[in-house]
Amino acid sequence: MSAISTQDRLQDPAKPLDALLAAYCVGALDRPAHALVASHLLLNPKNRRFVAALEDLAAGEVERVEPAPLSDRDARLAAVFASASPIVAPAPQSVLPAPLLRLVGSEISDLRWRKKIPGVREYKISESIRGEASLLWISGGSRVPSHTHEGSEVTLVLQGAFSDVTGRYGRGDIAIADADLDHRPMTSDGEDCICFAVTDAPLRLTGPVGRILDRFFGRTH
Ligand code: ZN
Repeated sequence: MSAISTQDRLQDPAKPLDALLAAYCVGALDRPAHALVASHLLLNPKNRRFVAALEDLAAGEVERVEPAPLSDRDARLAAVFASASPIVAPAPQSVLPAPLLRLVGSEISDLRWRKKIPGVREYKISESIRGEASLLWISGGSRVPSHTHEGSEVTLVLQGAFSDVTGRYGRGDIAIADADLDHRPMTSDGEDCICFAVTDAPLRLTGPVGRILDRFFGRTH
């Protein structure tokens, strides 16, 4: 068990992932972001206990009860995942975890990928004025052009890995970028990187590619 309490984690502004998990627990995320967090919890079990503790906190707001033993919480969470009646049964080695497969409706091999920029293909799942949800397929060993974000960009790695100034992210990891981050993600050599990205505002490209697009579209920052 970590010595850091659930309350401490929630109050630490340097932990946007914990805030995202908390929003998930109280049902405050829209459908793509909810599917992203549910997939993260399936692929990467280390945050499941934290989520179970948050759910107990939320339940305690309604009804003061003795906390269940941790083993019961894990079993309950497993039951929640098991009861989420999949429409499409995932293949054992599916790149898309079940919650994402339900959102997308097809395996990645059946999707119509569009070339976004050299080395990057995209399948857009949803788009609105609030933001968009996309799958990204980035060739191994390539760099995504540097960009900033007007809002937040939450990325779940499904295959391969990428690194930026904030760290290295592999399958099941969530990377969160906000308006303060200007980054240039680089995928690992040897394996294409497939990610699921949810943004709540359009990306602003910076660097040479951004300047070219600005000139092309007459954009001003
Ligand atoms: Zn970004």
